[in-house]
This record gives sequence, C-alpha cells and structure tokens, in this order.
Amino acid sequence: MNKAELIDTFKHQGQRNELIDLLQSKGISNASVLEVMRLIPRHLFLPVDFESHAYEDKAFPIEEGQTISQPYTVAYQTQLLNIKKGDKVLEIGTGSGYQALVLMMLGAELYSIERHALLSQLSIALLKDVIKAFKFKIDYQPHFLVGDGTKGWLQKAPFDKIIVTAAAPAVPKALVNQLNVGGSIIIPVGQSLKTQKMVRLTKKEDGNFSTEVFDEFSFVPLLGENGW
Ligand code: SAH
Repeated sequence: MNKAELIDTFKHQGQRNELIDLLQSKGISNASVLEVMRLIPRHLFLPVDFESHAYEDKAFPIEEGQTISQPYTVAYQTQLLNIKKGDKVLEIGTGSGYQALVLMMLGAELYSIERHALLSQLSIALLKDVIKAFKFKIDYQPHFLVGDGTKGWLQKAPFDKIIVTAAAPAVPKALVNQLNVGGSIIIPVGQSLKTQKMVRLTKKEDGNFSTEVFDEFSFVPLLGENGW
C-alpha cells in the first residue's frame, strides 16, 4: 500500500471520473455507490508500483499474495448489498481496506475480518490516515478483527448485511446464522477456484432464505474452517 504521500492529483481525479463512467456503462446504476467510489483515492490502496494503473478496471496484487478487487467487482457487490445508513455490516476479507472504506462512506457500521495480521494492520493505519487527510465523513468507527472470517463474528452478531470478498466453495452456515431477518449475504460461490457465481441469500421472516444467483467472477480463495 502506498502510504508515502496521501496526495490526490487532478490527474487521479480525472482518471477516477473516467472509471466511474466505465462502471456506469457496465451497468452499475446505484448513485451512492458511484459517488463514494468517485471520492475514494484508490491509488493509495495499491503498492506504489501499480499506482499509475490504479484507475484501470482491474484487480491488483497487494501484500501476502492477495488482491485488491477490481473496481467493477467492488461496485457490483456493494450495489447488491443495497446499504442503508446505519446498517450493521460484516465484511470478510479486509485486504487493502478499499471495500471497507466504500462501505463506511455509505454509512455502514462496519465490522471487518482479515486472516492476515499484516494486511489488517496496514489497512487500519491507512484508513485512519486517508479519512483524516481527505476529511471523509464517517458515521461509525469501524471494527477490525484478525481471524477466520468463515466463522463470522459471533460476539457482534447479528448483522444486517454480510459481504464476502473471497471465493467460497459453499455459503458458510455460520455466516448466514449471524444475519438479521430481512438481512442478506453477498458471496462469490464456486466449486472451482477459477470462477464463482455471485450469490445473494436473504433471510425471510420464517427463517428460511431466498437465493438469487448473479454473474460470474474470479476471486482469491476464502480459506478457513468453512472455506477452502
Ligand atoms: N475487500 C478486499 C479484497 C481483498 S482479497 C479489498 O477491498 O481489498 C480477499 C481477502 O480475503 C484477502 O486479503 C484474504 O487474505 C482474505 N481472506 C481469505 N480467507 C479469509 C478468511 N477465512 N477470513 C478472513 N479473511 C480471509
């Protein structure tokens, strides 16, 4: 992650505007999602070497062999989550912290779990610096945990929304058990590590779940007790 200087140039801003146009042309229509992604300096969430590519619609490597998700993927998952201000949201896979900031700026009370301690530490520090430097308005202080997100965060449950940003072989039961009635989980699911289908499960009044299946994506694996 590029923490050397927290600078957002006109060039960055211009490239970001073009990226937002591209996301719109690819079908992202949620105005709030597009607006927060227009504000967040994604180049600060990538290693310095990739900075000049930060506004291409691509995933890039971060520390620990992980990736920062492609902007389209972030927008797609976030749009499906349909965040309302004050939603209590659990994110599995803090990674670079970029998706976390998108959720926070949409007004979510964020809980985020990462299995790599280093990534968690770097993200916590970077988010603090970016929020301060750019005077971003955050309604709730975020909560971070290092551990196996496939087990959820029982002490803080239930959640209104859960977003899994790594590829799961199946939807972990422990996670859906931590959803509020009316709440939903967005998770890429696939029997192969090559591609996954985006799935949304929504908890109904009777305790059952409705399932919707969306487009195909390719994520890094969700490792852990209820993962790969
Ligand atoms: N949301 C991130 C995407 C990071 S990639 C971003 O915006 O940058 C997915 C992340 O999930 C990786 O950092 C990986 O280490 C993490 N991960 C994989 N399995 C996990 C698990 N069981 N619990 C928590 N984090 C996990």
